[in-house]
Amino acid sequence: MERQPSKLPPIPVDAEALGARDLLRVALEALGRDRLALAASFGPEDTVILDLLVGLEPRPRVFTLDTGRLPDETYELIERIRRRYGIEIEFYFPDAAAVEAMVRANGPNLFYESLDHRLLCCDVRKVLPLRRALATVDGWITGLRRDQIATRARTPKIGLDLEHGLIWKVAPLADWTSADVWAYIRERELPYNALHDRGYASIGCAPCTRAVAPGEDPRAGRWWWERPESRECGLHVPHAALTDGPRSR
Ligand code: SF4
Repeated sequence: MERQPSKLPPIPVDAEALGARDLLRVALEALGRDRLALAASFGPEDTVILDLLVGLEPRPRVFTLDTGRLPDETYELIERIRRRYGIEIEFYFPDAAAVEAMVRANGPNLFYESLDHRLLCCDVRKVLPLRRALATVDGWITGLRRDQIATRARTPKIGLDLEHGLIWKVAPLADWTSADVWAYIRERELPYNALHDRGYASIGCAPCTRAVAPGEDPRAGRWWWERPESRECGLHVPHAALTDGPRSR
């Protein structure tokens, strides 16, 4: 499924005016089922998007990055989602030789030692597998929301992702709040990660995620030992790399 050289089709819509379902429909019609995929870490946003997506396309492409350090609860959720929707999920794993070399040199829990070590681990276990996944699509769908963190405040609903080779990046829930997401989940009785009932707000790898106190910033449970401004894993480049329409590199 490596991408063939092709001219990326434009998506000439006023994306900002579209609701999540219509945005997904436009993206599916423009790119086609085989060239558009949901990148799912199975947070509540991803489950909402998946639920909307299967209403438009019964066999949507969904991929996930299995870092090898995910909590058991995330795997349990993935199984529930597979059963509920009857869909195939594409798992992307890190390169085994790269993980072996990294752990041999730095130990299994290198991320606690320094920001450089943490970014190295995220690079090997997440960023490089994401690059492989995105080489198979012309567009990817993410659960980014503008109010999650300051660096996502200007996330466009559809923008060009230049970081991953000129592909579309679709954020159907960009203008949703956390309350909107949870209202949808409860209304549709969608499955969600059991850790949310134990105080976890944003869930990633087990050693890098912890519960937050009521009212605390939801992102405070991710890489909590670092300064707030460094708490991104490199999967999502800042909005400045995105545009509202096609352009050449
Ligand atoms: S979140 Fe933690 S365990 Fe997961 S890839 Fe990043 S540093 Fe490694």
